[in-house]
Amino acid sequence: MRYRQIPGLATRVSVLGFGASPLGNEFCAINPVEGAHAVRHAVANGINFFDVSPYYGRTLAEERLGPALSGLRDKVVIGTKCGRYDTASFDFSAPRIEASIHESLRRLRTDYVDILYAHDIEFADREQIVNETIPALKKLKQQGKARLIGITGYPLKLLADVAVRGAVDIVMSYCHYNLLARDLDTYLTPVLKQHDIALVNASPFHMGILTRAGAPAWHPAPEQVKQAGAGIVKLCAANGADLPAAALRFCLNHSYIASTFVGMFQPAHVDENLKALDTRLDPALLAEIDRTAAPGLNVTWASGLLENQD
Ligand code: NAD
Repeated sequence: MRYRQIPGLATRVSVLGFGASPLGNEFCAINPVEGAHAVRHAVANGINFFDVSPYYGRTLAEERLGPALSGLRDKVVIGTKCGRYDTASFDFSAPRIEASIHESLRRLRTDYVDILYAHDIEFADREQIVNETIPALKKLKQQGKARLIGITGYPLKLLADVAVRGAVDIVMSYCHYNLLARDLDTYLTPVLKQHDIALVNASPFHMGILTRAGAPAWHPAPEQVKQAGAGIVKLCAANGADLPAAALRFCLNHSYIASTFVGMFQPAHVDENLKALDTRLDPALLAEIDRTAAPGLNVTWASGLLENQD
């Protein structure tokens, strides 16, 4: 495993992070015992960075991750979120943020998290995020409940604007840097670099599109993105190429992203994804992938309030 330093964290984070949303049955109903094994297997193999949220499985993912990490707290870096609680349930007010962290800490069986993010800020009034939510997060940081505070969401220009105005420590972006999307570096990375704000990248498989199982039913991407992704899956199968390793290697090659979070719930996923660390992305394969991806490349979708769209 390789590790990177995020300023403000005592522990360096693994470049491959464990996305815990599948532990909340977000992609399919999982076997919770197997999910816990996946978590412990990941830690045993050097993955020390975990991402979760009260939204994933409507608290189920946190409830499962906490006990799975029992006895490992000092070995891992945990990020969780606040403000989003269901598909259409949001509350970014200061009192809710304060109550939320205490609920998360109880479920995660710890007395602090390493990172606390406002979750999917495009569903809120951006002025509320800057003037109420982020100050509430900063208060929790001062109290030692979170080491770092940040924001997550989909529209990149919104993330850049709020990150700078709110002076957050870290931003999590998803579905903007992988084999089907490259626009992260156009809109977000340069701004964060300029302001010394850390960046983590989520959804290297474009939320399941770049897997043999394909996109979950709720996936918001337009059909052309799903078709381009299915084309990449087929291309890799026809060439005997290891798709998870290639898709992750592509993300891991980014120089500013501290860690790439992949959603996992099986020990076998952990093993397959770890292979990316020793994989070289064949330039000829990448050229073929790029040709196949082209009709769906950088094709985005609406997320959140109209005024927050890129
Ligand atoms: P992803 O692109 O990581 O894909 C996850 C899917 O890939 C799951 O169905 C998983 O079972 C499958 N998978 C994983 N490894 C596999 C392998 N080796 N072979 C075959 N299938 C495999 O999407 P994601 O889970 O949405 O993103 C990763 C994490 O990032 C999430 O769990 C979450 O923690 C975080 N995230 C955050 C936000 C946000 O804050 N708004 C949004 C998206 C993701």
